[in-house]
Amino acid sequence: MKITEVRTHPLEAGLSRSFAYSRGQYATRMAMVVEIETDAGLIGWGECYGPARINAAVVEHFRPFLIGQDPFRTEWLWHEIYARYRDHGQKGVVIQGLSGVDIALWDLKGKILGQPIHRLMGGPLRTEVAAYATGLYRRDAGKPEVYLAEEAAGYCEEGFSAVKLKVGFGIDEDARVTQAVRRAIGPDRGLMVDANHAYDTVAAIRLGRKIEPFDIGWFEEPVIPEDAAGHLAVKTALTIPVASGECEFTRFGFRDLIAQRAVDIVQPDTCAAGGLSECKKIADMTAAYGLRYSPHVWGTGIAVAASLQLLAVLPSLTPPSFHPIEPLLEFDRTEHPFRMKILTQPIEHARGKVAVPQGPGLGIEIDRDALRHFRVR
Ligand code: CA
Repeated sequence: MKITEVRTHPLEAGLSRSFAYSRGQYATRMAMVVEIETDAGLIGWGECYGPARINAAVVEHFRPFLIGQDPFRTEWLWHEIYARYRDHGQKGVVIQGLSGVDIALWDLKGKILGQPIHRLMGGPLRTEVAAYATGLYRRDAGKPEVYLAEEAAGYCEEGFSAVKLKVGFGIDEDARVTQAVRRAIGPDRGLMVDANHAYDTVAAIRLGRKIEPFDIGWFEEPVIPEDAAGHLAVKTALTIPVASGECEFTRFGFRDLIAQRAVDIVQPDTCAAGGLSECKKIADMTAAYGLRYSPHVWGTGIAVAASLQLLAVLPSLTPPSFHPIEPLLEFDRTEHPFRMKILTQPIEHARGKVAVPQGPGLGIEIDRDALRHFRVR
């Protein structure tokens, strides 16, 4: 069997209402979908996280090399592409492009064999994954203490056992809003905070001390991703666990973060850190160091499906146990015009749990009309 075509689908859509995090405003959502076809007529789908047009250019650059290759050689293809671009792209868009290709190849393998990816990666340890709600972004108008408390309570009503709040808007405001959200959701739900590396070590520790009384599940990206020692300093100074990894890439990037135990929770994005092949390796390395793995997920249903296929095979860190610590899925609740529209069947949560898709490959079907509709013009 041979790869006969590689197509890119950069997608984009405007939002009805923009929302803000610590480093800017979202007025649009974008994604880059990879389609790989074989001479057997089967098609594999993947997704790249990052700037869609640049990701598309990267994957189009890989195209001449991929055509004619055996789609089953995922490991060799990953290393060959990585080695060809090593001098120019050990992190960032090159690896994001490679991630989308790798996911599409795994989807293909599953479809050829008639099995979901998790069956090919070790078989299921779970058939559903607990999800936390990502949202709680800033709006143009209103008091964040009020509207974020309401929004968080809504996620709890839906059944989510944990929510993640954006911080990075100034220490005093962050502390006030964190307290308001904790009050709104009560003592039994998880509350995580995410600074998107808005702070330096001094400011992050200062904020951490102020929000420690509010039982924070983790402090995500307190400092810039390049500063592993800064993460470690924050972790050491606080009783709050530290999480990071959405801006890190490949086993080589994560090796340094993990070996220094700079974080407690490792958060690779399957569509950015190197795809399913690489994220399985990162997850195994994470487990070997006794750290938790909780992927960053910010894409379409393809990204959600890829994340679920990997989460299905990750062992609990505490086996066997009356209180097993299971991996968590990030479930983005912010507006996304085509997140699930590009699937014929959306992936939903039920009381905060998401079922692992059981169909061949990623276990999803793509709606080509939606792909055309949201294509970048
Ligand atoms: Ca984040």
